[in-house]
Amino acid sequence: MDYKILTYPDKELKKVSSAVDKIDDSILELIDSMGRIMLKNNGIGLAAPQIGIKKRIIIVDERAIGANSNIIAMVNPKIVSYESFYEEHDEGCLSVPGFYGKVNDRRRYIKVQYLDLKEQVQEVEFDNFLSVVIQHEIDHLNGILFVDRINFVEKLRFKKFLKENK
Ligand SMILES: [Zn+2]
Repeated sequence: MDYKILTYPDKELKKVSSAVDKIDDSILELIDSMGRIMLKNNGIGLAAPQIGIKKRIIIVDERAIGANSNIIAMVNPKIVSYESFYEEHDEGCLSVPGFYGKVNDRRRYIKVQYLDLKEQVQEVEFDNFLSVVIQHEIDHLNGILFVDRINFVEKLRFKKFLKENK
């Protein structure tokens, strides 16, 4: 299937995605497509709703932390615990192309529970930037974009960016 990345202000991006009941061939194919789309667009993370599929699936690439490309797929991911805050940093998003803005409420450490591709429950800890990428992707499942998390000054800058890039 031919998917395309939805971009701001598409209302579909604001919707909450539903849990996946069963990881069948169609889900595996979807995850495969997501991987291809992410790599093609040079992304380091992608959530299914970004390509118009409102299912709770995210992928992240360990390239985000300077490692070789290794895609981690998470179905129904849930943050079960977290600790301290990550430093203020610029985030970007394939659904908000060209804009990078400062986000300062991300956690430094998270523990995530999710189903892997064999439908096994995994509970894994992540820290620093990979943790931030996962939080960003899980936000997509809840209809939240990073531009919803930027401060007032950054929001003004985003407005200006939108005006200039119409
Ligand atoms: Zn994003």
